[in-house]
Amino acid sequence: MRLRNIPGAKDAITESPYVVQNPAECKGKWAQVFTQEQPIHIEVGMGKGRFLMDMAKLHPEINYIGIEMYDSVLLRALQKREKIEEAGEKLDNLKFMCVDARLLPEIFEKGEIQRIYLNFSDPWPKARHAKRRLTSREFLARYSQILPDGATVEFKTDNKGLFEFSLEEVNESEGWKLVAHTFDLHHQEDMMEGNVMTEYEEKFSSVGNPICKLIAVFHE
Ligand code: SAM
Repeated sequence: MRLRNIPGAKDAITESPYVVQNPAECKGKWAQVFTQEQPIHIEVGMGKGRFLMDMAKLHPEINYIGIEMYDSVLLRALQKREKIEEAGEKLDNLKFMCVDARLLPEIFEKGEIQRIYLNFSDPWPKARHAKRRLTSREFLARYSQILPDGATVEFKTDNKGLFEFSLEEVNESEGWKLVAHTFDLHHQEDMMEGNVMTEYEEKFSSVGNPICKLIAVFHE
């Protein structure tokens, strides 16, 4: 998702109390960024943030960070967040950052993050762009630099080609093991428990696209 350049987006992000500025300076100190010291889960490629805002409401015992590389998209998430807070709902356990996920190992110390969510990641259909896919072996290697032993990545998509690629990448990547997968999440009761819909999931499932999901675990 890339929205047209929105004037003022950069300023709004720089001034927002919900956005962590200079996140690399928090490396090794993320527990202090939140009001409560508790496990941290991140969504890489958050888009407009619906999934994480719902998760943060449902799971106050978890701290969440939404990572989005485009300021025009992050601005949409901020606007939505402001409405929620104006309505009197505090989301102290949710922060955002505007960075490219390639920088994750420069931002988090190993073991600082307990789970990574990837939802409807960009497919990058050209073979020469495979390294940019957020489930590529290159990205899995970055995730293994910040996750502790036993942590998981959860990935949802309606793109069957990207999903099959991702299953292969998990199988080919050192330390990674597939825990569960389905090509039709919404008809797989055991994997649907606690499912929180993302913006794209709502959009694609409403036109009949089956949703695929995999959970992969990382072991040292
Ligand atoms: N996760 C949301 C959902 O399911 O509704 C949004 C999905 S949208 C297709 C993918 C988002 O990932 C886009 O907003 C894009 O800018 C972001 N993205 C893609 N590559 C990224 C990267 N390397 N680092 C951070 N964000 C990225």
